Amino acid sequence: MLKLLNDFWWFVKGSVQKKGTQNTMRTLRSKAYCVPGRAGPSFRVPGESQQEWLLETYTRAHSTPPDEPCPICMCSLQCPSDCSSQELTEDEGVVKMTKCGHSLHKLCARMMAESKQYFIPCPMCKTVHGVRRGNQPDGIMEVRTVNDNLPGFDCGTIVITYRFGGGIQGQGHPNPGHPYRAHAFPRRAFLPDNERGNKILQLLEVAWQRRLIFTIGTSVTSGLENVITWNEIHHKTEWEDFHGHGYPDPAYLDNVTMELELQGVTEADLESNVNQSQE
Ligand SMILES: [Zn+2]
Ligand SMILES: [Zn+2]
Repeated sequence: MLKLLNDFWWFVKGSVQKKGTQNTMRTLRSKAYCVPGRAGPSFRVPGESQQEWLLETYTRAHSTPPDEPCPICMCSLQCPSDCSSQELTEDEGVVKMTKCGHSLHKLCARMMAESKQYFIPCPMCKTVHGVRRGNQPDGIMEVRTVNDNLPGFDCGTIVITYRFGGGIQGQGHPNPGHPYRAHAFPRRAFLPDNERGNKILQLLEVAWQRRLIFTIGTSVTSGLENVITWNEIHHKTEWEDFHGHGYPDPAYLDNVTMELELQGVTEADLESNVNQSQE
């Protein structure tokens, strides 16, 4: 399903005239959400094999554990974990996270793998090991380019439009079975149409496919409950800087790159297509 979507996406992308005189538009539609028989991997209940896969892929045995407290149970890494009273003897020992090199008890790593399902965040530095997936409901992400320039740029502008409707909350949402509303949609966001802006757009598209850009909760701005809200990846929703959400903002492109990284979305995803190979 996602493979098809991606093929279609690359076809559309290839046919888009980026800097033409006419404004162009392309549309990304997210996968069906919680539809029986069509549910993507975000909704599959992970079994033991998924946890084993996470542990095997993203941790390595540490033969000489440092004399430091484990970031999960706070016991020294040179002693067994407090949690080892559960008699899981095969889980004794200390492991290192493969990406950042931080150490923790193997048993504690297993507990993290169980609670987070599709990824293990390093308990020390939060580096995402695996693919983090969110609970963003079904919606539409539209991307088009316009020739007008954002303050501080002379390269044209990428306009992203997010569209959602209301629905019923599923498992993983705050109130399963209750309705949610799409308050204050469609929402628009702007990026400069230069190399950096297009790179960030690609990262946002990965985040969109992983359902990480929005979630359901209480709106910070309106106080409304059970509505679709932004999920920690800031967007510039104003053209000019009226309320701190527009341009110029010299730090914005760095900041949003960092926020995407905290969700586990990095340039490595664009190169290796991790997103697709996981399907
Ligand atoms: Zn521990
Ligand atoms: Zn770490």
